[in-house]
Amino acid sequence: MPTRAPLPATFEGDVLLPDSPGYDAARAVWNGAVDRRPAYVVRCAGTDDVRTAVRVARELGLPLGVLCGGHSAAGWAVPDGGLMIDLSRMRGVVVDPGARTAQVQGGALLGSLDAATQPYGLGTTAGIVSHTGIGGLALGGGVGWLARQLGLTCDNVLGYEVVTAEGGLVRATAAENPDLFWGLRGGGGNFGVVTRFDLALHDVGTQALTAEVDLDPAGGLDALRTWLALAQDAPRRATVVADVRAGGPLTLGFVWVGAPDEAGPLVARLDALGTPLARRVTPMSYLDLQRRSDAATAHGSRRYAKSHYVRELPDAALEAFLAHAEADVGGADLVAYGGAIADVAPDATAFAHRDAWFEYGVGAAWDDPADDERRAATCRRLAASIEPWSVGVYVNALGAEGAARVQRAYGAATYARLQQVKSAWDPDNVFRLNQNVPPAEA
Ligand code: FAD
Repeated sequence: MPTRAPLPATFEGDVLLPDSPGYDAARAVWNGAVDRRPAYVVRCAGTDDVRTAVRVARELGLPLGVLCGGHSAAGWAVPDGGLMIDLSRMRGVVVDPGARTAQVQGGALLGSLDAATQPYGLGTTAGIVSHTGIGGLALGGGVGWLARQLGLTCDNVLGYEVVTAEGGLVRATAAENPDLFWGLRGGGGNFGVVTRFDLALHDVGTQALTAEVDLDPAGGLDALRTWLALAQDAPRRATVVADVRAGGPLTLGFVWVGAPDEAGPLVARLDALGTPLARRVTPMSYLDLQRRSDAATAHGSRRYAKSHYVRELPDAALEAFLAHAEADVGGADLVAYGGAIADVAPDATAFAHRDAWFEYGVGAAWDDPADDERRAATCRRLAASIEPWSVGVYVNALGAEGAARVQRAYGAATYARLQQVKSAWDPDNVFRLNQNVPPAEA
């Protein structure tokens, strides 16, 4: 009989100690560079277990981490010497096709959400890698191929079931605890453990398409300018993307969610970008689109990434982006925002960057710890070359970058309001292993 100490007998889940079988697998997260050793991995079987775990962590004065998909690059979920609430037994998704809603447990991965909704032709905005957790993604905002049609994931949350810092259980909706509801839509894991998300679903069909051309980065400036014009008036079903890889081509194109034949006019516009080295137009199912990057982003490698939101990309910025092709880095991309993301007022939710035009990101993956500093330094240098056009950063794209960067992710007004919500719901900052917003000074 495995020990459940220090959890009481009413606890139904599993408790792993450092000498338990499976402990090392349980503490491993997406970024292989994260190597922390919780005193207890507490794998909760349900909401009551989460309440118990929060209370026990407080009683023992232990740092508390919350694990959903484990994708946080900083590995916030894994507290050294602390208590890790592991939600991997809470991955259920229940769809009500008539009401067009999904009840999603707080430990679910995006792939389960898509798999449960697509048989009805339904869907909602989720990220672009199926092994990302709904927990961290939705709480920070949630951007994906449907965001320009349907808004962010957080814009599609109808209600949250939340275990509070006291171990209580509350609901947050537009009508019930509206301050908490506001804060949970972008404010991350600062306010409690979300054990259930109630999501709005939409008719999105089951079809998708990707269209892209590979070009020589050496002559890429003109192509990028034309691509920007295309991005400006692309339909909401399209998310325009640019990608440049070390020693590889400049790839320009878009991802389309909807009937592939309706993407024809936009596909034709890619021909104006220049003579391509390669051209790919690939109809696929929405489910395949959502899994397309899974293998390339698998768990285990060491990772580093930096990101910026931009509202303009003059030639100097485009040149800086093209110069990434020469660097010793995995790759960089520009992904369009706008559409339904921008329909929401900046103060309506805790995700304020409604007027971002693109998200820029640069990242690297490697396996040898000896490469850590060099790889991270290259990413930082390249991101610095885009910094002059930065208007902020996505909180879910931050690593452990310090308090000033968290403030930058929210902007002054949203940050101040988040501090008020934090004071009301977690005045002792029990939930601090995250992109932390400390309580307002009394
Ligand atoms: P975890 O590391 O498990 O959780 C991160 C933090 O979120 C936790 O420390 C905790 O503070 C909080 N948290 C998680 N679950 C809960 C919960 N149920 N209740 C309370 N707090 C909780 N972002 C996008 O918007 N769109 C994308 O397409 C996208 N793609 C990505 C692809 C990859 C390969 C990676 C690594 C990241 C991607 N991201 C994307 C960023 C992603 O949103 C963040 O990394 C997010 O934190 C991941 O959530 P998680 O649950 O997987 O991570």
